[in-house]
Amino acid sequence: EQSLSRRVQAVKPSPTLAVSTRAAELKASGKDIIGLGVGEPDFDTPEHIKQAGIEAIQAGKTKYTAVDGTPSLKKAVIDKFQRDNGLTYQPNQILVSAGGKHSFFNMALALLNPGDEVIIPAPYWVSYPDMVRIAEGVPVIVSGGAGQNFKITAEQLRKAITPKTRLVVLNSPSNPTGMTYSAEELKSLAEVLLEHPDILVATDDMYEHIVWGDKPFVNIVTVCPELYDRAIVMNGVSKAYSMTGWRIGYIGGPEWLVKNMKKIQSQSTSNPCSIAQAAAEAALNGDHQCVKDMVKEFKSRHDHVFKRLSALPDVKVLPADGTFYSFPDFSEVMKKRGFEKDVDLAEALLEAGVALVPGSAFGAPGHMRLSFAASLEVLDKAIDRLEAFLAE
Ligand code: PLP
Repeated sequence: EQSLSRRVQAVKPSPTLAVSTRAAELKASGKDIIGLGVGEPDFDTPEHIKQAGIEAIQAGKTKYTAVDGTPSLKKAVIDKFQRDNGLTYQPNQILVSAGGKHSFFNMALALLNPGDEVIIPAPYWVSYPDMVRIAEGVPVIVSGGAGQNFKITAEQLRKAITPKTRLVVLNSPSNPTGMTYSAEELKSLAEVLLEHPDILVATDDMYEHIVWGDKPFVNIVTVCPELYDRAIVMNGVSKAYSMTGWRIGYIGGPEWLVKNMKKIQSQSTSNPCSIAQAAAEAALNGDHQCVKDMVKEFKSRHDHVFKRLSALPDVKVLPADGTFYSFPDFSEVMKKRGFEKDVDLAEALLEAGVALVPGSAFGAPGHMRLSFAASLEVLDKAIDRLEAFLAE
């Protein structure tokens, strides 16, 4: 047995991966499985964005770029933050990386010392705790249950803070719940942070554009500008423009931190793909009708899925504010059917022909994440199967 780093041993194998591996096995053996486990839009990347990528290749933009992104993409990012969020950044406050995940990874490595605590509200995006562990930090999970729309309160935040707390991570709209924090809720969290000037806050705005309802998008910095100097605003093109495979994420943040995240990036991956950067620039600077069209479709799928899931016996579901996920509670089903773990229920649902991701992957056991990045027809078929399973 070879010895491995403590760092890698602290990382849990991904439960999401376990389900998709099992789904792939079953599919290979000829079983008809509807996969609603994926975390990416089912739309093609919009034509004008693909075209910008093609043109970049033809124009010879196929070489190294500046580590932190081309000046023109960084300008597009600065313009985006100003336009959409009213946040002003200088070029040395921007870092473009190979996806939002890479941005977070760089931040964890640049910021955390062994034992530093990072407060992560659950349900959370699967990767936060493990990226913190790779950086030898300690994830501190604070659960926002269904009774509080999966959001944490100021009181919970206050209680979770210790002298070792270095960072708080917020993600609104949330993967996996689709919930957004209101301006009032963010202000109350911000007030707690104002009592602790040494704590940084990361706001992961990856799903910023995928929202419905009439309230404009806000994050903790836009509602509390006093936090600007210690906020890392994270975003990317993956979800809004259906560009998951292009791998471009970006952040705006304090110059001292950005400089050091860039140092990590310069000695690991170097610049993100030059061609993808050109495409991301076209996405940020271009017409946003394509985003509106996608969101409209997600909204109508959400409404339909919500209605149908609500009608299932023993399944509880809340309407989401955005994203392309629904996060129904199956704990009553588990109790009645004698499933101790939601992973076992996910396995049984696979046998019934539907792949969902168990809530334990997101720190919320008993729930299932259903992604509606599929046509209404496919979604209906999947829910028919759930219905049949529940009627057994
Ligand atoms: N943040 C959240 C909340 C996500 O759900 C994802 C993707 O699933 C990411 C960040 C990372 O996106 P990417 O690395 O594909 O840009």
